[in-house]
Amino acid sequence: MTVLVFDLGGTRMRAALVEGVRIVMQTEAPTPANDGIGPVIDGLCALARGMDGAGAAGLCAPGPLDVGRGLMLAPPTLRGWRDVPISAILSDRLGLPVRLENDANAAAMGEYAHGAGRGAGVLVFATVSTGIGGGIVVNGKLLRGRDGLAGEVGHMKIDSAGPECFCGRTGCFEALASGTALARRAGRDPRAVIADARAGDAAALAHLDAHGQLLGRGFSNLLHLFAPDVLVVGGGLSNAFDLLEPSIRAGIAENAMPACRDTPVVRAGLGEAAGLIGMAHLLKEKVHG
Ligand SMILES: [Zn+2]
Repeated sequence: MTVLVFDLGGTRMRAALVEGVRIVMQTEAPTPANDGIGPVIDGLCALARGMDGAGAAGLCAPGPLDVGRGLMLAPPTLRGWRDVPISAILSDRLGLPVRLENDANAAAMGEYAHGAGRGAGVLVFATVSTGIGGGIVVNGKLLRGRDGLAGEVGHMKIDSAGPECFCGRTGCFEALASGTALARRAGRDPRAVIADARAGDAAALAHLDAHGQLLGRGFSNLLHLFAPDVLVVGGGLSNAFDLLEPSIRAGIAENAMPACRDTPVVRAGLGEAAGLIGMAHLLKEKVHG
C-alpha cells in the first residue's frame, strides 16, 4: 500500500510518499511556526504536491495530542495552536483519511517494525535532541496510557536541584540530558561539540562523557520500569552514539540494579526516517485490522 506521511516539527516539516517501507519521494521545508495554523497547513499541502497514489495519510506531530479525535492540543513549539482538529482539516484538503500520532511514538514503532529494535517484546525508544521524547512498544503495540501520555520520558525527575525545564518544573531528564542541556553546559551547539570531540578536543570529550553519564542515569530508570529487551536511542545526539556509549554504560552500571545492567542499548537504525516509516507501518496496520 502507498501512503502519504507528514512529519510536523517545530523547525522543519516533511512529507513523504511511502510504498511498503520504502520512501519513494520526500520533500521538506522550514515550519512557519510563528505564523499560526493556516500557513503551516498550506505548507504541508504544498509539500505533498505531486505525491499521488496514496490510499491514506498520517501526520507525526509533537504532543500533547488527542489521537482518537485527531486533535493537536497545545504543542509548545507551534505558536497559536490550541485544540486544532488537524486530522479533519488535512483530510478535507487531501481527500484522504488522516491518522495522527505523536512523533516519538511513530519513531518508536518504526524502530520496532523495521529498525534497531525489530521484533523486541518490549522496546523503549528515547529520542535525544532539543528535548527528550520517548515511545514504548509492547508486543507490537504502542503503550499509550491515559490521554496518550505514556512515554513522556523527558520529564522524569532526575535531580530536584537540577535546571529548569521547558515544562516549568526543575531537574527533568530533558533539562539535564537533552541536546539543549549539552549546548548550555558546553557553551556551543551540540553539533560543534561532537565535531570537536571527533577531532580529539579534550574539553568536548569531557562534556560528552559527563553527558553520557546523565543519559545513563535516566535510562536506568527506564530499565527498572520496563525491563525492555532493547533500549533504542534516536534523535540528533544519537549521531554521537559511538562517543557517548561508554559513558552511557558507565551511568547505567552506577545507577541500575545488577540484573538490568546488561540490557542492550543501541543506536536507532532508521535515523530521521524512523517516524515516517513508523507511521507508514501504523497506517498499514489500521487498514489490515
Ligand atoms: Zn520537564
